Amino acid sequence: MAFHSEEEQTEDYLFKIVLIGDSAVGKSNLLTRFARDEFYPNSKSTIGVEFQTQKMEINGKEVKAQIWDTAGQERFRAVTSAYYRGAVGALLVYDISRRQTFDSIGRWLNELHTHSDMNVVTILVGNKSDLKDAREVTTAEGKGLAEAQGLFFIETSALDSSNVSAAFQTVVREIYNILSRKVM
Ligand code: GDP
Repeated sequence: MAFHSEEEQTEDYLFKIVLIGDSAVGKSNLLTRFARDEFYPNSKSTIGVEFQTQKMEINGKEVKAQIWDTAGQERFRAVTSAYYRGAVGALLVYDISRRQTFDSIGRWLNELHTHSDMNVVTILVGNKSDLKDAREVTTAEGKGLAEAQGLFFIETSALDSSNVSAAFQTVVREIYNILSRKVM
């Protein structure tokens, strides 16, 4: 474990990060996998909690990510502006086994930009990478869209844990780096 002086530890960062994307793409399970290392095979979107605060270490500094889950609001196309308010990061999630969830990405990006700052650090997340036989969206398509829109990109599986921490860490690290550059 890294050693930090007391002086270094006095700084405290809290970043609001939102999960967005169509219903049932795995947003709640990405969060429970990341925050509690738990997975729910038959979860109902409505069980999602409002947010979870997760401590992370970036460049030896403790950072808190306050990660918001829609808790099923998106099924009624009713994600409120309060949900986006103050967000500095976003995980924009689709399901690699359901093309229609990938086709919705443009609409989610519009919504994100309508309700928040253009500079929200955003990662496009192709979830359910374990469903290899049911894949409808190729990795190259995901990467291509992310590049065209200036987003980070990753494929994850909340089921087998693959890349879940990396998805959240990519966003938090970039926010931290942007902030450190501004402070300096
Ligand atoms: P949300 O509505 O976007 O929050 O989606 P949920 O997290 O509620 O997940 C919807 C369904 O997909 C549930 O039945 C989950 O068990 C399932 N699911 C979520 N992530 C994965 C994954 O990575 N792989 C597989 N195979 N199923 C997943």
